[in-house]
Amino acid sequence: MFRYYECEKCGKKYFPRKIRCYCGSMSFKEVVVDKAIGSISTYTVILVPPKGFTPPIYIGIAEYDGMKILGRYVGDPERLKVGIKVELHNDDGTTTFSPIE
Ligand SMILES: [Zn+2]
Repeated sequence: MFRYYECEKCGKKYFPRKIRCYCGSMSFKEVVVDKAIGSISTYTVILVPPKGFTPPIYIGIAEYDGMKILGRYVGDPERLKVGIKVELHNDDGTTTFSPIE
C-alpha cells in the first residue's frame, strides 16, 4: 500500500506531504493505492548506517506517477539497477521499495 497527497486545486502529487503546493494552495487530499509500481532512478549503498540498521542498506529514489520518492530498497541487491520496476510501500511509517516480477 502506498499513500500520497494530491493538491486539491491543481492536482500535483506529493510524497511526503507539503505544507503548501507550488500553486499556493494549502489544501491536500490523501490518496491511497493498493499497488504502486514505480522505477528506480538512482540509488546508493550505505555501509555505515545509523544505529539499528544492519549494513549494507540501499537507499534510492523511485519515480512514481510524476513524484520522486526517497526510500529504502529491500530485496536482492543483485537485482538493484537503475530503471528496474519496484513496488512502493509506506504503510508502516517508512518508505520501502521491493523488486517486482
Ligand atoms: Zn497545487
